[in-house]
Amino acid sequence: MQAKQSVYDYYCKNGMKIDKILNEIDEQGDAHVGSSAQTPIREDAFELSDIEKVALINKDVKHIMETLGLDLTDDSLKGTPQRVAKMFVNEIFAGLNPERKPIASTFENKYKYGEMLVEKNITVYSTCEHHLLPIVGKAHVAYISKGRVIGLSKMNRIVDYFAKRPQVQERMTMQIVQELQKALGTPDVACVVDAKHLCVNSRGIRDIDSSTVTSEFGGAFKEKSVKREFLDYIKLDTIF
Ligand SMILES: [Zn+2]
Repeated sequence: MQAKQSVYDYYCKNGMKIDKILNEIDEQGDAHVGSSAQTPIREDAFELSDIEKVALINKDVKHIMETLGLDLTDDSLKGTPQRVAKMFVNEIFAGLNPERKPIASTFENKYKYGEMLVEKNITVYSTCEHHLLPIVGKAHVAYISKGRVIGLSKMNRIVDYFAKRPQVQERMTMQIVQELQKALGTPDVACVVDAKHLCVNSRGIRDIDSSTVTSEFGGAFKEKSVKREFLDYIKLDTIF
């Protein structure tokens, strides 16, 4: 009670200032401005086990729903906090945990394939870190081997790993490229992501048609002709 009172007093004294700070944070989120190429996680992020996290988040979601006035004894609602908690930890934010990072094993480029390899139309399901609403789209990834090659599905898995975090699309695009550069031992990696953000499509400006395109071009892909070739491959219709 006393703690609540002192927070209240502080707010009365500094209310204007706090409102200003909160508005600025809100505006930064609505503008989808990210602050770093690394996902901002705390050092103690993995001190709790996944099971402990699910238990805590369960309580938090329950609290949010109760605050909204929902009746959690209702059959349809009573399982929701647990379902959401499990989904956060084991599915949509599972890529926060480095232990879940796919092992990007590479192989010697025995066939000496020297051209660009493009893995396109990789499905992206991510979550906007400013609103915790879905980002849904496609990623297109390319590299030119400097001696090592990587299994095709590994590229899909790397995209999925970085997507399964609260994300900013620009950061996710850079993280995918940096990871593949590390695995393949070459700067010649590129990624384009084209995705819809439900925080733009379903709320706020509610523009259902707009999508966001981000790109990262490493090494040789900075050259105009190489970049052009990659972008032309993306446009190709795949025939089954
Ligand atoms: Zn958003």
